[in-house]
Amino acid sequence: MTGFPEKKHWPMLIGGEWVDALDGSTSDVITPIDRNVVIATVPQGKEADADRAVEAARAAFPGWAGLHFKERQKLILQAADALEARIEDLAQLTAVDTGNALRTQARPEAQTLVDLFRYMGGVAGEVKGVTLPAGEQQLQYTRREPLGVVAGILPWNSPLMIAAFKTPAALAAGNTIILKCAEDAPLTILEMGRIIADILPAGVLNIVTGKGSVIGERLAVHPGVDKVSFTGSTGVGRHIAEVAGKRLAHSSMELGGKSPCIVFPDSDTDAVADQVVLSTRFARQGQSCTSGSRLFLHEDIYDSFLAKVVERIGAMKVGDPRDEASDIGAVNSAKQWNTIQNYIEIGESMEGVEIAYDGRESLEVGEPGFYHAPIVFSRARNDWQTSKEEIFGPVLSVIPWKDEDEVVEMANDNEYGLAAFVFAKDVDAALRTAHRIESGWVQVNQGGGQVAGQSYGGFKQSGFGREASLEGLLEGFTQIKQVNVKLG
Ligand code: NAD
Repeated sequence: MTGFPEKKHWPMLIGGEWVDALDGSTSDVITPIDRNVVIATVPQGKEADADRAVEAARAAFPGWAGLHFKERQKLILQAADALEARIEDLAQLTAVDTGNALRTQARPEAQTLVDLFRYMGGVAGEVKGVTLPAGEQQLQYTRREPLGVVAGILPWNSPLMIAAFKTPAALAAGNTIILKCAEDAPLTILEMGRIIADILPAGVLNIVTGKGSVIGERLAVHPGVDKVSFTGSTGVGRHIAEVAGKRLAHSSMELGGKSPCIVFPDSDTDAVADQVVLSTRFARQGQSCTSGSRLFLHEDIYDSFLAKVVERIGAMKVGDPRDEASDIGAVNSAKQWNTIQNYIEIGESMEGVEIAYDGRESLEVGEPGFYHAPIVFSRARNDWQTSKEEIFGPVLSVIPWKDEDEVVEMANDNEYGLAAFVFAKDVDAALRTAHRIESGWVQVNQGGGQVAGQSYGGFKQSGFGREASLEGLLEGFTQIKQVNVKLG
């Protein structure tokens, strides 16, 4: 592959200006493709920078909220067009910044950003209230008003997609927003800002960089932030929900997952195996909160179906994320690489485990990049640590089942409840199972990703609040005001 983009400094966006941290401190951004290559520096924003971002967002709020929805819609759709024109640049940058492979992951992610700007711009006029039939002497109606300033706190695994779940919805409803980039992958969000900053009034969209525990924490506790929309780990989410809750700020939590994927005995086909592999999110190194990382196979088809899955996983090429031939890119950071490695060692040591596939033997890439080959643990148990905890890597636990009640119980016997996948030709069995699973999102007979307009969010320890849908926009980014008027 060719070299990396020339190292440059990427400032933050506050109040329409591109600025550095007030104290001048910066951090290096390395690429997961080569740990020795610093591809950029970004400001290391501190509390004072959070404060000025909040000030800018607050100052812009009345003007933005006061616009006719058509004006906001026009600008959001203009932003969608501008992003679409730069979609390939955003995808290329995603590959270098996050390690996500261009063809399988980075391009679809950039497309989701465009789709959601277009979708949320399109439904901006749906932010409306209702009127009560209260007789001729009364006019009683509701207004859906924006919350104010939203802080969107982003993870590193697919920053553009997560920003897409939050930004256009918040803006369409009339809020202003401050995005806090993940330390390990801030560049695509800053680039998104560069593309659309001039379209939006100053202060409507602000983007800050820096440590979560410093600038992120300040945004979560800041009295000028009306809502914290967080996507990240359950541990950090629990803390942010606590500090936001303490001051009764709105919050939504999109957290971790350990999603079950259940295959019924009538579904031992190649087409289902393709979808199951898609559900593993191995094409994103398994670094997906919706990864179907627990595969429940019925005993009758266990060996035959597993062989199909293994064949497909074995055919996936791990390589430079910028290479069109790569199906799987690089894990995001050394820390993440080590976490995955620890879980692999734990899985290998479990009594009775069978290694159905171990891609390490044929891995052609490695140091100085953070590459991990997929591994499949067969005959796993649902109570193993590797089956219970979110690994966020290309590690699949395959668990046999015999009885429908038993598999539903195992699927639900986990603290998370974000996504689930059910494969059955028998529609009754498929829907019965889909309805019994404790998850915010169940897919039947398919394994792909979120689409614009669908409801998205978790049950249980996977969080609360919904994004990506019109309902998510209304419930997540507006509040209702009732107005009662005496007439006559
Ligand atoms: P993380 O929780 O470590 O960090 C997420 C963000 O929170 C980062 O921007 C970080 O800087 C910030 N942060 C950290 N401490 C903070 C604090 N005290 N106050 C405010 N902000 C703080 O998560 P991560 O490692 O970046 O991402 C991986 C996790 O995200 C996984 O658990 C994954 O499941 C989850 N995730 C969930 C979804 C979803 O939609 N449910 C999507 C993507 C990722």
